[in-house]
This record gives sequence, C-alpha cells and structure tokens, in this order.
Amino acid sequence: MNFRHLAILAATGLGAQSALAQQAVVNLYTARHYQTDEALYAKFEKATGIKVNRIEGKEDELIERIRSEGANSPADVFITVDASRLAKAEQLGLFAPVKSKVLEQRIPAHLRTADWFSFSLRARVIVYNSALVNGADVQTYEDLANPRLKGRICVREGNHPYNLSLGSAILAHDGTARTEAWARGLVANLARAPKGGDTDQLKSVAAGECGVAVANSYYVARLMRSDKPEDRKVADALTVVWPNQKSWGTHVNVSGGGMLKSAPNKANAQKLLEFFASDEAQVYFADGNNEWPVVKSVKVRNPALDKLGPFKADELPIGKVSSGTAEAQKIFDRAGFM
Ligand code: FE
Repeated sequence: MNFRHLAILAATGLGAQSALAQQAVVNLYTARHYQTDEALYAKFEKATGIKVNRIEGKEDELIERIRSEGANSPADVFITVDASRLAKAEQLGLFAPVKSKVLEQRIPAHLRTADWFSFSLRARVIVYNSALVNGADVQTYEDLANPRLKGRICVREGNHPYNLSLGSAILAHDGTARTEAWARGLVANLARAPKGGDTDQLKSVAAGECGVAVANSYYVARLMRSDKPEDRKVADALTVVWPNQKSWGTHVNVSGGGMLKSAPNKANAQKLLEFFASDEAQVYFADGNNEWPVVKSVKVRNPALDKLGPFKADELPIGKVSSGTAEAQKIFDRAGFM
C-alpha cells in the first residue's frame, strides 16, 4: 500500500476502520466447548491483540455450515474432535494447507497432515469388570472377538466416529479380512445392541450388565474426577486396560483443526493455530478435557491420567487413521456392527 492509498483510507474513515478490523480478528468455528477454552482465547487476545470470534456448534453441523457458507464463509479456523470428522472436512475440500515452521517443529509428524493439525490426544481404552471377565482375556482390541467373551461386550454404535477411527487403525494394522472377521466376532459377543455414549457403556460395565467395553480415556478420567460420589463409584468398579501394548500400541485419536480455504483472515488464522501449539495453550487444550498434549515437552499434571499411568500409543499417521474410516464403515456395515 502506498501513501496515496493510506491517505484515501484515512480520509474515508470507514475504509480505515474495516482495514483495521480485518487485521484484528480471527473467526473460530469450534466443536469444543470446555470452560478452560475461554481462558485460552483470552490469553491469545492479550498476547496478539487479535480478537477471537467464536462460533460453537456440533461437529457435523459446523462442517455443514462452513460448506453451505462457501466462499463467503467468515470462518478462519475450524476445530473439532476425532480424526474421522477432520477427514470429512478435508474430503469436502474445506481446509487450506498451512506451511508453518512452528507447527512442524512442535507437532510430531504423525499427528499432522498437509491440511490439519492435532492439538490433543485421547486413547480408546478397554474397560472391564473383574468380577465378570478375566483381565488376561481382554488385553488387545483383537481379543474382543474371542468367543470366550460371548454376551459380555457393550459398545456404542459401530458407525460412530470413535469406533470408525478405531476400525481404521485395526484395518491399517491387521488388513481387511482380519478386520472384518474381528467386527463379526465383536458383534457375536455383544451383551446388547449398541446404544448410548461411552459413559453409558462404562456405567453398564460397573453395574455388571456387561463385562467389558471400549471407551475414550477422558470419559473414564471424568468419572474418576467427578464431584458426584456415584460417578466415582462407577470408576472404582472398572479396571482399565491399555490395549495392544505388546503389538502396535493403544489406538489414539485427537482434537484438532486447521485453516479454512475461504478464511478471510489467513495470517491471523495461522497465528491462532501456532498459539494452540504453544506450551501454555497445550496445557489448557489437553487438561480442559482430560486429554494429553501433542507437544512432547509439555507435561500436564492430571491426577486421573497420572493414576492411569503411562502407555505405548499407536503411532500410525493420523492422516491414515482418518482416511481409512470410509473403508472401516463398509467393513462394519458388512459385519452388522452398526
Ligand atoms: Fe467424546
């Protein structure tokens, strides 16, 4: 911009204002709604002077909204949970690749793609009731297809993103034929038709309605840290297994996001993404939902996660987890895991 342009902007006033406004905001569409996230955005605003305009919504609704807004979408950054949902946004062509030394240095290569970045990690764990199930029988995801567990397994619907991402990881490690046989074996072992969320499965295992379930780690941690005695009683009745420690490691999924192709404030969007990878933000991002930071050097003191202890996580590239969910869906459909 030369002096003449500046002079015109100054003279019109309005132009100057909108030019300023354009520099000073970032529009964030987020499917995360945790209290700690507010503190996170306040810190970003203070550090950069860039105001975070937040639009909250359900994961699939936000994707639909960004899609229907098209080139006119005000959205700069989209944050959601689960690799399969990030894959959906990616396949719809909503993301713009971000080249950032900061993000490349801070986020391990297997936890980012050309289009989006992971900012926190959750594990999909096996949880059992030791009065009903022998712990030695439930040490791997593959074990869940063992006929010994007939009538014991509770799980949410097969087509839920959490199970599709798990199915995608199993597919990548074990191949199509074994994954399909696994899904059939799992279905044959169900205590009841899949229903409810992960917390419902945990409660059913604690109550003895089923012997074993799979659930995301933060649901277990949430019950462990709950103010309600009845929640802690559920947690006390469960034994948590880190699956596949002797093979490919426990399946992990992510919260993550990226910059949108139509972003009107691309430079600010990149700053916000880089901020999410900072030490300070990583703590908030992870701890707000009992998750782990993706940046290795960042340590979070979380009493529930500390109690669950360390584990070997699957390091399958997250882009592979996400891209395999479509095939996992077909396999689950054939196996009747719905
Ligand atoms: Fe969840």
